[in-house]
Amino acid sequence: MLKDVLVSLDNNGIKSNEPRVQGFDYLIEDTKVYSFYSIKLEKNKDDFRDWFYARVNHEFFEDADQLLDFINTVAEPWYEFYLENKSLVDKTKSLKSDAKRWFKKNKDQQLKNFDRFFEAVKRMFEEAYNVHDIVFYDVEAIKKNKSFSDDRGSCYINGRPDYYDVISQMNAHYVMVYRNGKPITRLWCVISTDKNSIVFFNEYGYHFKELYKLFSSEDEYDTVSDYTLECVLGIHINKGHWIITKNASPEDFVYEVECPTCGSLTHSDNLEWRDDRLECDQCDDNTVYSEFYDEYINEDQAVFSETHNSYIYKDAAVFSDRYNDYIHENYAVYSDYYDDYLYEPDAVKVYNIDKDGYDYVLQEDVVYSSYYDENLINDQAVFSWYYDTYLLENGNDTAYSKWLRCYVDMNDNTLVEINGDYIPEDEVDEYFIMIKGQYYRRKDLLFTHKLVTSVKPMKNVRLAEKSWA
Ligand SMILES: [Zn+2]
Repeated sequence: MLKDVLVSLDNNGIKSNEPRVQGFDYLIEDTKVYSFYSIKLEKNKDDFRDWFYARVNHEFFEDADQLLDFINTVAEPWYEFYLENKSLVDKTKSLKSDAKRWFKKNKDQQLKNFDRFFEAVKRMFEEAYNVHDIVFYDVEAIKKNKSFSDDRGSCYINGRPDYYDVISQMNAHYVMVYRNGKPITRLWCVISTDKNSIVFFNEYGYHFKELYKLFSSEDEYDTVSDYTLECVLGIHINKGHWIITKNASPEDFVYEVECPTCGSLTHSDNLEWRDDRLECDQCDDNTVYSEFYDEYINEDQAVFSETHNSYIYKDAAVFSDRYNDYIHENYAVYSDYYDDYLYEPDAVKVYNIDKDGYDYVLQEDVVYSSYYDENLINDQAVFSWYYDTYLLENGNDTAYSKWLRCYVDMNDNTLVEINGDYIPEDEVDEYFIMIKGQYYRRKDLLFTHKLVTSVKPMKNVRLAEKSWA
């Protein structure tokens, strides 16, 4: 069987969401499946008795003796029969007929509630020989296996992703074990470089007493210690004796890999965990990995950029005082307003009056003017309630209207300039009058008129006090 598993894995995989695997909706999505089989695991005959006693629903039995009697006379003999014949029906009787006879005698002559009782018994038999689905996925499946929460704590994805980097360079698989469609355990497997052997390790989740039964017959496998495996594979192996093809040489599991720390080609048995990294013997401190370029670059020529969260080449970097950080030149724009570089995705294009052209500033310094349909720099703008938007404070066309008590556009043809002030056209007729080409304010004229026509007290006429009031 172990040989068959190896043979079945020798393919390019199929997408886990392809139509032919639809219906298996518990499969991990967006990855590849390389092999998939089901296996029946039977409860050991000697364990069945205690297991049945502990797990069956006790409400169907009046006391412990009655339950033991049922196990002795019905359940256990039938389980033995099942293991030999793979059937719960014999020539003249069946599990059901025996259970019925026992029920009639011990519980209820009328067979009241027998159906419920037998269902509970049958469920126990079904559980005693569980069907397990074994699915061999692409290594990346560990990152997509959202429904198996046990795995979320794996150091391969959390604390020590270098292990993932290495195992993903091997001929390896992420193996999930499902029981009745529910994920219960995962393992890793690695195939030897000559493709003749395979090793299974790092069982996580439900613990199988006889793990080999999932993959191998009894005479096909050996066990291998976590220490030996860790030495050849270079990755973390959980404590234990793991399953390996019989007579396989651990040396056949040494892979040529790219060192996750320095990127040089090395062998997996050269890798060692040091200073929070998996390092090879050629690792020196002179190379750093750059996420930005996705390659290793010389540390002397590199600067770290928080903005890109990566090392980048110093030559290609500009320094921004505002960010106190390096930005790759292709992602930087120069702002005249700040006299500094900005990270392009953060920058907003604005009209800058000082340069009479476009510039870049950060969003926090931008106001939008619907009057000009332009972004302006906050400091250079003034709010005009007349337009209900911003104008350039020092714009060539901007003027202050004392009449309106706000800034206006002096070229706005809804405004009339009168004695250096700007009045809305529709208010001009109401408040002003034109005399000989000159506007006068009506109020002022009225006042003058009043003064002229006022009756002044005549000489020597004494008027009563307060008559001017
Ligand atoms: Zn290295």
